[in-house]
Amino acid sequence: MQVKVARHAGFCFGVERAIDIVKKASEENSNVVTFGPIIHNPQVVSDLESMGVSTIKSLEEVDAGMSVVIRSHGIEKQEALYLEKNAGKVIDAACPFVQKAQKAAEKLSRDCDYIVILGEADHPEVKGIISYIDIDYKVIETVDEAEALEFREKYGLLAQTTQNQDVFTTIESVLKNKCNELIVAKTICSATEHRQSAAIEVASNVEVMIVVGGKNSANTTRLYHLCKEICPKTYHVETEKELSADMFLNVENVGLTAGASTPKYLLEKVREYIYEVAR
Ligand code: SF4
Repeated sequence: MQVKVARHAGFCFGVERAIDIVKKASEENSNVVTFGPIIHNPQVVSDLESMGVSTIKSLEEVDAGMSVVIRSHGIEKQEALYLEKNAGKVIDAACPFVQKAQKAAEKLSRDCDYIVILGEADHPEVKGIISYIDIDYKVIETVDEAEALEFREKYGLLAQTTQNQDVFTTIESVLKNKCNELIVAKTICSATEHRQSAAIEVASNVEVMIVVGGKNSANTTRLYHLCKEICPKTYHVETEKELSADMFLNVENVGLTAGASTPKYLLEKVREYIYEVAR
């Protein structure tokens, strides 16, 4: 059996940076917590817990004795202001691409009549982006939803950093016909594009595709759906424990990729499991 690993798989720059920041913070400060999970990977979050870094879920939990690390997906503007006032120290580990998307939203809010965001309304990153908008907006996930929008003078368009570039480009052309002026902010990060195209390349040439990463990770879930469209036997797992030998019965070629928040050791464990099964 051959196992082909996608060229771009696992930790992206923003996630690697966030983990480095939180580790350094825990060495230099006491009582370090992250506001929300630092990244969307339960295994990494529990590794950090064993180092003494816990996750808080609400602002009520914040006190002046805490050093609070802002997660890679960023937080809402009001939450950031609250932390500045009430936490002992605030350490920003939000990915620079996420910060760029927040700034873009703020600018579009000044320059347009209405903003369209391609993304998942419930995702923390999108909630953070929205908090910088003070005009009307809509979060959409499909081209059909863009088709249904009414004609306006000036639309602004941006995306959650992990959205699919092709869908974004199609929505851009739909919106061009729905306004007199369209201002587009390019906020999809290159790490996402690279991971998606490398995963598609591998999934096109294998019988079984495994996508490793948190079930709560938007970018991993999107990789899974993209691969599944091409390779019906695509599985999304967090660890090798979710795999079983029958998934690989009579299979010659297996593809492997991992979301941007998946540490390399989890991908390697999956690879080892597949080789073990193939023996
Ligand atoms: S996927 Fe992109 S935007 Fe998200 S953390 Fe990684 S580098 Fe930053």
